[in-house]
Amino acid sequence: MRIVFIGPPGSGKGTQAQRLVELYGLAHLSTGDMLRAAREAKTEIGLKADRYMSAGDLVPDDIIVTIITERIGQPDCRNGYLLDGFPRTIAQAQALDEMLADKGTPLDAAVELKVPEEELFQRLAGRGRADDSPEVIRQRLEAYRKQTKPLLDYYNQQNLFVSIDGLGTVDEVFERAKAILDKLL
Ligand code: AMP
Repeated sequence: MRIVFIGPPGSGKGTQAQRLVELYGLAHLSTGDMLRAAREAKTEIGLKADRYMSAGDLVPDDIIVTIITERIGQPDCRNGYLLDGFPRTIAQAQALDEMLADKGTPLDAAVELKVPEEELFQRLAGRGRADDSPEVIRQRLEAYRKQTKPLLDYYNQQNLFVSIDGLGTVDEVFERAKAILDKLL
């Protein structure tokens, strides 16, 4: 099973992704985690990505496509994976489609975790991480609205799109996600 998991910052996407990969035995491919690790290790990619991440902007597509191409080629991805936080732009989605067409391994679904923007701001402001100043939060939400939301239509046109209500407890949302992924198996 190959799944794209799309959700705005603060939607609880990371938490749900973690539980879903454990349940279904999928590789968890989080570009945010990869970038944070690269930043901590002070690699060339990490240093380049840092200023975009700190400002709440998306990291340029070429950097992201390079790291994800390398990652998807690894052996643990053969049994399926969940893409968490990638793609985030139409250009990334197109690059992914090409990559998967070459391998003959198409996506099974693109799942949106849907949470209203007013709720997101509250949640993110309450989380209080260093990168969560109000200005950076607003920038991250705007990047989602402008650059990532168009993916919902993109995957809808490919008949891959499913939306889950992201309001409620972690368990409630997890049950909804599970019901959808169970149908794909
Ligand atoms: P995340 O943990 O998924 O919210 O990612 C943290 C930050 O990493 C984002 O705010 C972006 O700056 C960057 N990032 C992660 N994934 C991507 C992506 N697919 N495209 C561009 N930037 C990304």
